[in-house]
Amino acid sequence: TKLRVGLLFGGCSGEHEVSISSARAVAQALSAEQNAHKYEVIPFYIHKDGRWQAGEIPQNVLDGTLVEFQHSTSPQSQTSHKWQYPVQVTEVDVWFPILHGPNGEDGTIQGLLTLMQVPFVGSGVLGSALGMDKIAMKMAFAQAGIPQVKYMALNRAQIWSNPCVFPKLCDEIEATLGYPCFVKPANLGSSVGIAKVRSRSELETALDNAASYDRRIIVEAGVKARELECAVLGNDAPKASVVGEITFNSDFYDYETKYTPGKADWLIPAPVSDAVSSQIQAMALQAFAAVDAAGLARVDFFYVEATGEVLINEINTLPGFTATSMYPQLWVNTGISFPDLVDELIENAISRHSGFK
Ligand code: ADP
Ligand code: MG
Ligand code: MG
Repeated sequence: TKLRVGLLFGGCSGEHEVSISSARAVAQALSAEQNAHKYEVIPFYIHKDGRWQAGEIPQNVLDGTLVEFQHSTSPQSQTSHKWQYPVQVTEVDVWFPILHGPNGEDGTIQGLLTLMQVPFVGSGVLGSALGMDKIAMKMAFAQAGIPQVKYMALNRAQIWSNPCVFPKLCDEIEATLGYPCFVKPANLGSSVGIAKVRSRSELETALDNAASYDRRIIVEAGVKARELECAVLGNDAPKASVVGEITFNSDFYDYETKYTPGKADWLIPAPVSDAVSSQIQAMALQAFAAVDAAGLARVDFFYVEATGEVLINEINTLPGFTATSMYPQLWVNTGISFPDLVDELIENAISRHSGFK
């Protein structure tokens, strides 16, 4: 009998559309010849308002025949409770959550799936939560001794509630980090809400803006560096892929650069020395362990060529997963095809589940 894979996609985050593309690629890989005899896909679409849906609609969203379900005008959404789950939930043997950003990558879904006592692909609650919150993530990296940029952790109250404290806070940021620095909401992705600032007035605006996205805000010293990425796959003895590089012409790798075709390019493998790429692979594995990640993660780095320094930027526990995304492409270039990758992730989910219980 086939293993029934619950493919969970969509979700309430800014990365809803990316999630659909990722899920489409995973569904295709599961029905590829080498996997079709082993797996049956049960798609679950999470609407932007949080409702879960099984059956025809998720299939249509995956096929691209339904672009966006009009949840706001659906009579069902006005009468039914958001947290009713379709009956098909009980038919799932293993979950494959392919949700990016808040409510998908941050441990919330992972907590729900843990309570269901069904194996799922990827990190658990702790790894997901640490990977989402840039402040908690950096604390874990610091504790593990992984080099990173200097940063300050702030909260919304310091920025909004006290007009006497705010100028002092800005003074402190200027003295500690200088310009340029990067202001970020701690719990987002896709560069949403991130600003590179070069002056006091830009700093003030960026802090106010970041505070509108999140209670937790991080400010980091800006570095001039190349951006390198490494994929990790496995559980307690994970492996690291070849290293890739992101190149672009914009000021930094912002939302527009990430999602406008042609604005960014990749090089796999990255044109760096063997020493640098081994160092990055070792740091990627350290970072994976530091946040207690599992299954998969893409670990992103700054390579400051002028000094030879390699700094960790972040870990993404549910990285973009379309056929052309960096994570699967890094594995293709390391010798693992997309269908094999998906198969290995599901195997890992099952072995992790049985290992713990
Ligand atoms: P996200 O999780 O949204 O991808 P990142 O922290 O990776 O957020 O920041 C997005 C981009 O902003 C990075 O890929 C990089 O181009 C730029 N950036 C972020 N922090 C720094 C920094 N401290 N120094 C230089 N560039 C940075
Ligand atoms: Mg990120
Ligand atoms: Mg990033």
